[in-house]
Amino acid sequence: MQHPPVLIAGGGIGGLCLALTLEQIGVPFTVFESVAELRPLGVGINVQPNAVRELFDLGITAEDLDSVGLPMREWALVGRSGDDIYAEPRGLDAGYHWPQYAVHRGRFHMMLYDKLVARAGADTVRLGARVADYRNNADGTVTAMIEHADGQKSEQHGALLIGADGIHSAVRARMHPDQPPIHWGGAVMWRGTTRARPIRTGASFVGLGGSKQRMVIYPITAPDSDGFATINWIAEVAFENAGDKPTGWFKSAQVDDFIHYFDGWSFDWLDVPELLRGAEVTYENPMIDRDPVATWRDGCVALMGDAAHAMYPTGSNGASQAIVDARTLGAMILAHGPTAQALAAYDAALCGPVSELVLRNRGAGPFGLLDIVDARCGGEFDNIDDVVPAAERATFMASYKSAAGFDIDALNSAPAKIAKGARIPT
Ligand SMILES: Cc1cc2nc3c(=O)[nH]c(=O)nc-3n(C[C@H](O)[C@H](O)[C@H](O)COP(=O)(O)OP(=O)(O)OC[C@H]3O[C@@H](n4cnc5c(N)ncnc54)[C@H](O)[C@@H]3O)c2cc1C
Repeated sequence: MQHPPVLIAGGGIGGLCLALTLEQIGVPFTVFESVAELRPLGVGINVQPNAVRELFDLGITAEDLDSVGLPMREWALVGRSGDDIYAEPRGLDAGYHWPQYAVHRGRFHMMLYDKLVARAGADTVRLGARVADYRNNADGTVTAMIEHADGQKSEQHGALLIGADGIHSAVRARMHPDQPPIHWGGAVMWRGTTRARPIRTGASFVGLGGSKQRMVIYPITAPDSDGFATINWIAEVAFENAGDKPTGWFKSAQVDDFIHYFDGWSFDWLDVPELLRGAEVTYENPMIDRDPVATWRDGCVALMGDAAHAMYPTGSNGASQAIVDARTLGAMILAHGPTAQALAAYDAALCGPVSELVLRNRGAGPFGLLDIVDARCGGEFDNIDDVVPAAERATFMASYKSAAGFDIDALNSAPAKIAKGARIPT
């Protein structure tokens, strides 16, 4: 039986991965993206091994990912004194069958778009088309109301509507009209990139500092012949009074607005003020998320990505989870067809555990170790084992990785979400 297309609201990383998945399994779809022109926006994001596995299964190769980022080799936490608290290998070095990548969000996004256009055609993505509302129909289909950039409005009939429309999701607002406003816990992140020499392994993700101020630093390109790479950094400051700051999203910012919080953060292996002063671009980005909701589904409509589970970036898993959502949706659509039943199975599999992850990331996620060290010794120590014994550090990290789907053995031994060559029966 020929179903109407699956309608996807939002052509971000999540929406495009779902579109690529539907193309792979033979389900017709249309993406509606509100912006009139896609541009390579944003700075660095991490793509964890569980998501890289799904990208490889989608036919996105290591060479494709190398063109927009680089594989990570290490994850490390360093105290305010500049001394190591915790370090572990990442990706292939850690024993995963798949690498972890740090990528430029915008270049990664455009790479996914180019793949989709090459495989499915440019007319599968309607730009300047905002999904404003929806209606579940009595015959088990859905109608999406679209507002076009030229002021026109239209209605689209679909088998399903998937809200992949980000943290400010209109689909979620319609599904959960009483949801509380965006939650801001009081921290502000300034994000940017600087051309500089990479530190440690040359492909290390480093969290440095304590609970009130910290830096996250990692390269998103391999070094050029001059030894310089594009270094992504996040300078994060927690404010006492959460009411003091606006909750704008990705505003352009000046380094002078915040560099004073990092005065004196200079070590023989890293000079934070110098890194910040060399910024090519800087954005101010309040650390915001949304309170979890009880369900991501309403009839033939479901949420995915940030629309379902906008989370603090402390666990570096927002984009990875969006990719996993897309693949889980694809697997459920293969099993049940493009039906409400597929969405119910997807919701049952992911809404509960991922909502728990949202709350866990609110408690600092894996950076919680920095907070523990801060609380026990103010961040200054001679021997970290006297402050947080090695076994406690290892248990803390293992518990986070298991909750976030990063458990090495579990991932390596899990079957593919979508078997090679699987297509929906026609
Ligand atoms: C411009 C931009 C820059 C970002 N930069 C960073 C970054 O530097 N670092 C980082 O960690 N995270 C960044 N993020 C967030 C990150 O991309 C997401 O957390 C993650 O990739 C999950 O992606 P998503 O597809 O669920 O949501 P998003 O990436 O937010 O994509 C949602 C898409 O839906 C579109 N959209 C919104 N409303 C509607 C609607 N009603 N109808 C149709 N389309 C709609 C948006 O234009 C967007 O393209 C950025 C997001 C955006 C939109």
